Amino acid sequence: MILNPAIEALPLQKKTDLQTERLRAIVERAYRKTGFYHQRLSASQLEPAMLQTVETIAKLPFLTTADLAANYPYGLLTVPVSAIARFQQGVGNKAVGLTQQDITNHLELLARSLVAGQVSSGSVFMMIAAKEVMPYAPALQTAAEGIGATVIEQHGLNVKELLKIILNFGVTALFASPETFLHLAETLTTLGFSASELPLLSLLCDARQLDNPLRHKLRQAYSTPIYTLYGHTDILSMGMAAECPEQNGLHLQEDHFYAEIIDPYTGQPVPDGQTGELVITTLTREGMPLLRYRTADFACLDRSPCPCGRTLARLHFSCFARQ
Ligand SMILES: [Zn+2]
Repeated sequence: MILNPAIEALPLQKKTDLQTERLRAIVERAYRKTGFYHQRLSASQLEPAMLQTVETIAKLPFLTTADLAANYPYGLLTVPVSAIARFQQGVGNKAVGLTQQDITNHLELLARSLVAGQVSSGSVFMMIAAKEVMPYAPALQTAAEGIGATVIEQHGLNVKELLKIILNFGVTALFASPETFLHLAETLTTLGFSASELPLLSLLCDARQLDNPLRHKLRQAYSTPIYTLYGHTDILSMGMAAECPEQNGLHLQEDHFYAEIIDPYTGQPVPDGQTGELVITTLTREGMPLLRYRTADFACLDRSPCPCGRTLARLHFSCFARQ
């Protein structure tokens, strides 16, 4: 199932047209509204009119974590501080400023991600996550409610109590860390049961936390598919890309993010299918647009058609920066 097929399954040319239109608008706004981008474009002898296609964005210098810190907290805002509904505080001197529209967009992206992970109306959804560990937990629960799932809210229960809740409420979709999933499975085994007896239909987790050995262990412990969601604390905490039922890469929400893969040493683009550093440009961010932000996450881009029907390119991650 696809939550928003008008966007997620947009024909490729229309997707490029949409990205181009949004890119032009965001470059123009960043240039006009922030001293930082104005200076940066001017120093490269660029004007927004020279950045008219998605390919031409490569003329812009990269934005780095040091730039974010140097302009903390308000230097990259393109709206007055009063128009910022929320600052998501990152590690060190970094914060993402979001307007109410940015927050609304975030909820839709989380909802799309949940639907890609087989959560829908009729699902019983639960998160096992401390808010301080997973700052996106409240938004993810709100997004689940928004698509008609029934959310079971719980805080700080031990593993046996959690298992009882999963059985009593018939939890079908569970978001947790891979370690928590393994802990649940091990506890069940010691009680003489197996994880396959749980009503779960989807396991969901943060892509940053699931490496290949852990995925292998989870597949051994559970017959339930595992879906990962990707976010970056400097861009959007969660919901930038999500795994679909094909379990072969994470679809990037390309109507909101433009991705480039570069050689980390030369800064030059690498061909699709080749691993390099992921560079993201936010296409719709009102509060604090990021143009060519180097994520320090490593991935390759896969633009081949996906049997799920989404036309959004997929990211295959190979390693993540520490956050
Ligand atoms: Zn797919």
